Amino acid sequence: MEITGSIEEVRKRVLEWRQQGLSVGLVPTMGYLHEGHESLIVKAVAENDRVVVSDFVNPIQFGANEDLSTYPRDIEKDKALCENAGADLIFHPESCEMYAPDFSTYVESQGVSAGLCGKSRPTHFRGVCTVVCKLFNIVTPDRAYFGQKDAQQLAVIRRMVRDLNMHIEIIGCPIIREEDGLAKSSRNTYLDEEERKAALVLSKAIFHGESRMKQGEKDAGVILREMTELIEAEPLAKIDYVEMVDADSIETIEKAEGRVLVAMAVYIGTTRLIDNFIMEV
Ligand code: AMP
Repeated sequence: MEITGSIEEVRKRVLEWRQQGLSVGLVPTMGYLHEGHESLIVKAVAENDRVVVSDFVNPIQFGANEDLSTYPRDIEKDKALCENAGADLIFHPESCEMYAPDFSTYVESQGVSAGLCGKSRPTHFRGVCTVVCKLFNIVTPDRAYFGQKDAQQLAVIRRMVRDLNMHIEIIGCPIIREEDGLAKSSRNTYLDEEERKAALVLSKAIFHGESRMKQGEKDAGVILREMTELIEAEPLAKIDYVEMVDADSIETIEKAEGRVLVAMAVYIGTTRLIDNFIMEV
């Protein structure tokens, strides 16, 4: 496995693979890799001849008061995980390799990026779409892998690829959880012992909503109220949103019908965590 920070090096390597007729998968990440990322890489390795993992904390997807400067980083651990999972190349650029000082072109998504996380993070998806578009142009993969953990991101990327005719297959992958239910996240490292326990309230509410829907409950008001009550019973938790939307358009729905996404963002202390489930009704 190789690692490079150079766009030119990535292009060279991919060109060699193309000349050999090999297929290429891309797994975009912000590093500090865990089993959630690993599941994406393993799937990409199974479905492509060569796999590139990008490992880049993308500054333009962070808001002014967010955690860009404290976001956890450990490239040595990331290298070992990628190597073990069978990746061929890590692209780990400096910010200056990705963004010229006078960088001024962005990919702006509308509608699907407006609700949920887009409400409290108004420039987030512009940053995500722009960096993913750049990574697609650099790596030119056949397939790119994204986790359902960031369900709105997955919907936004699918829409971007459709709208801008990008010739790339987008593969969604299931949420990987800790044994006790907490969705794995690089940001879980911010939690102290007490907060780590309190954070279980997210997955508890998710599992509750999921089982109520499996029982046949369709009323968003009922499901979301019960989930909200569960979360509010935890003193360290503060809800950003708990919503039911159409999983593709991210438009609010009152009644569970079609491909339904129930998603939440909850602060545990100062750490903002997200979780969700998708159900076909
Ligand atoms: P990040 O490094 O947080 O930007 O995540 C990179 C990719 O890994 C995104 O497509 C995420 O949705 C995915 N991912 C992160 N955590 C998980 C998880 N617990 N299960 C599945 N995929 C995940």
